[in-house]
Amino acid sequence: MKFATKAIHAGIEPDQSSGAIMTPIFQTSTYVQDAPGVHKGYEYARTQNPTRNVLQNQLAALENGQHGICFASGLAATDAIMKLFQSGDHIISCNDLYGGTYRIFTKVYGKFGMEFSFVDMTNIANIENAINPKTKLIWIETPTNPMLNIVDIAAVCELAKKHNLLVCVDNTFASPYLQTPLDLGADFVLHSATKYLGGHSDVIHGAIVVKEKALADQLYFIQNASGAVPGPQDCFLILRGIKTLHIRVERACENAEKIAAFLASHPAVATVNYPGFASHPGHNIAKKQMKKFGAMVSFSLKDDRIEAANKVLSSTQLFSLAESLGGVESLIGHPATMTHASIPLAERQKTGVVDSLIRLSVGIEDADDLIEDLKKALG
Ligand SMILES: *Cc1c(COP(=O)(O)O)cnc(C)c1O
Repeated sequence: MKFATKAIHAGIEPDQSSGAIMTPIFQTSTYVQDAPGVHKGYEYARTQNPTRNVLQNQLAALENGQHGICFASGLAATDAIMKLFQSGDHIISCNDLYGGTYRIFTKVYGKFGMEFSFVDMTNIANIENAINPKTKLIWIETPTNPMLNIVDIAAVCELAKKHNLLVCVDNTFASPYLQTPLDLGADFVLHSATKYLGGHSDVIHGAIVVKEKALADQLYFIQNASGAVPGPQDCFLILRGIKTLHIRVERACENAEKIAAFLASHPAVATVNYPGFASHPGHNIAKKQMKKFGAMVSFSLKDDRIEAANKVLSSTQLFSLAESLGGVESLIGHPATMTHASIPLAERQKTGVVDSLIRLSVGIEDADDLIEDLKKALG
């Protein structure tokens, strides 16, 4: 089945009891049993919920995996993966990472004796050099946030197999429409479904997809044992969002391409980070592992003072100044003070998150109007 058909049909069946074509919101905490232990597969809604099950099956299909496991947020999904490991274990991650992921790694799991190395993954040798006998997992984000670097997923997976390590890919920025890391050898795909999967900026949600039953069983155990489960209404909203994922992402990518070209030609702009440019160092890898180049663009200004960035950030009319990404509406953000404020200054500047860096999540509005908005703000 091709992606667009999967987005509408995979894992989805009309409700058995009513024929409702849309998955009902099973807003219940428990289920009646005919006799002790005799039930329809549902006992208590932390453990199982029919709305959540449909979403889990659909996500597994979209990511070409076997099992989907949903959580109350992207970070709750990250938390569940961390709980597969223990004190003394070492994890290698990219140095250009979602701020909240960096925070849970260092401030929450660091406290329990887990160790993390943050390396520039655009050079595979940096990962190989960071591997030690305690290393268990490689955690990839690609495209990275906010510098839009590209990590070669297949190459990292090959290295990981050689050293018997697991690989998790945070696929939030690409969405399964653009990139399916399990096909490239990853063990886990993680999503903040809050972003492209939901797509309408109205829900917080997270998910993991895996192929291996053994990994899925451990994650279902943690989902139930730790209890960071999503509500059925939130699962419904993600199911509804996914039905237009391919159309939304396609349009957003087209808009981003035009906006990146406009920014690159603007005299006030210093650099534009966009993997769709042939000059981007990760362009060929992006071409190989992604269907399109995504709808995230970041750029810095020639005037590198924070005041210059602030002026642009507060002058746009269509681009709303807000955290988050992946919705139908375009957003503008300031990584240094917003999404990446929890990353220490020295660490941040090493990776290029300078004070004048501005990040765009390009939505599905008319590209000409978006460009006009940026033109005025920069002018
Ligand atoms: C937003 C985001 C997360 C965290 O997800 P939440 O749903 O906000 O908990 C993780 N990774 C990336 C790349 C994100 O953009």
